[in-house]
Amino acid sequence: MNRSSQREAILKALRSVKSHPTADEIYAMVHDSMPRLSLATVYRNLEQLVNAGMVTAIDGAGSRRFDGNAAPHHHKRCSVCGSVSDIFSEELHHLDNAIERLLPLLECSACSVEFSGICGKCRAAETPFYETVSVRTERGRVNTKNEEICYHE
Ligand SMILES: [Zn+2]
Ligand SMILES: [Zn+2]
Repeated sequence: MNRSSQREAILKALRSVKSHPTADEIYAMVHDSMPRLSLATVYRNLEQLVNAGMVTAIDGAGSRRFDGNAAPHHHKRCSVCGSVSDIFSEELHHLDNAIERLLPLLECSACSVEFSGICGKCRAAETPFYETVSVRTERGRVNTKNEEICYHE
């Protein structure tokens, strides 16, 4: 298997999931179809894809994760399990534009915004469903908007 088809297979595996996997997880995903591919090669290819702008690297708490979705979006990291999910919101485009305008004024070259909170899975594991519903009803406000824009694996 030549270098470009290796890279192609890694990109395809990354784009097939929404979980923002680590390099180790991507290695595990492609290992069955490419048993001779080493972890070091997966790391190298991922860095090349990031440098080419085809893949986004997400650095935060814990290890570096990768995202094959090129559409502009933001991320939410679960403060319990560390999973990263996508946030697609029109309103956040305004934030991005404001940051872009501010960067030269602040003499900065880049800025990354990451949201944190508890993911749907961890929330479900912690709080029985009926409790969640009653708490929301007491507050008189059901926060459905947030759920519409967050896609959890
Ligand atoms: Zn979680
Ligand atoms: Zn993403």
